[in-house]
Parts: sequence; structure tokens; C-alpha cells
Amino acid sequence: MDTTCVKCNKDCDLSSPSTSCCDSCSVAFHIKCLPIGGNELRVIEQRKKRSLFFFCDDCKGAIKRLPHILRCYDEIKFGLKTLNVLKKDSLISHDALVAEINDRD
Ligand SMILES: [Zn+2]
Ligand SMILES: [Zn+2]
Repeated sequence: MDTTCVKCNKDCDLSSPSTSCCDSCSVAFHIKCLPIGGNELRVIEQRKKRSLFFFCDDCKGAIKRLPHILRCYDEIKFGLKTLNVLKKDSLISHDALVAEINDRD
């Protein structure tokens, strides 16, 4: 399978130990194209069984935003909980809601 390195845009051989994939979105890249030091590089090349995670720049950026995303998620969960409580108390029955959704089709 021919893939291009996300860093240098040259061909990657995915079966080669010098090539890896982003653990999040699976884009391919050459390990040498990563901004990592020689020691790290050697560890990675020696270990066929990877214990290190690689992330492309896009995913790294996303991970940095993760605490914020998690906070949003918590807020959404809290919102849904509140909504459920409100629904129970409201006059709209579950059946009426289902009927309304079915009508839309
Ligand atoms: Zn490359
Ligand atoms: Zn990625």
C-alpha cells in the first residue's frame, strides 16, 4: 500500500520499521521526519512492539485542546441530565414525542 508521509510528502512503506502512523488518525509518516531526538529514535526502531504513541501535528493540537473538550462534554452531559429531569416533569409524554418524530419522516 502506497502512502505519503504527512511531513515530507514522499512515499512511505508502511511495512518498514522506519515508518509509523499517527495513533489517532492513522496518517503515515517517516519516523525520521518527526521532531524527535536520536535516543528516542533508536528506542522506537529497536522495539517492534511499540509502547510509544505517535500523533501527527493535527492530533497533537487536538490533544492540547482535550481538557477543554472534556469540560464541554461534562457540560453537555450535565445539560442532558437536566433536560431529562425537565422532561419527566413536563406535560409532553414520551409517546407524544415519538409520534412527533415519526411524523417528520
Ligand atoms: Zn517523511
Ligand atoms: Zn493524527
